[in-house]
Amino acid sequence: MDGVDDATIRTERAKARELRKSRWWQQKTSSGLCYYCGRKFPYKQLTMDHLIPLARGGRSTKDNLVPSCKECNTQKNSLLPLEWEEYLDKLKQGLL
Ligand SMILES: [Zn+2]
Repeated sequence: MDGVDDATIRTERAKARELRKSRWWQQKTSSGLCYYCGRKFPYKQLTMDHLIPLARGGRSTKDNLVPSCKECNTQKNSLLPLEWEEYLDKLKQGLL
């Protein structure tokens, strides 16, 4: 671990939950586009994702929260950071 304590993560998760109810998030997800793959999804299928994960020092701030489809979210959680970068590269090149 790299020193992010549980209390901080709990606080930041709570903040994210609040932001999820906000008008800002409604607007952010109104296009239905996944931030990562750029595909369109029904609102309900978009999850809130931290660009920089909380465990790696990211915070629940508006510039660190993006809509993500479940597939990208699952990939992000299951891949190593380096593998995730490769996944994003492939997405950008249209290889997936
Ligand atoms: Zn996606």
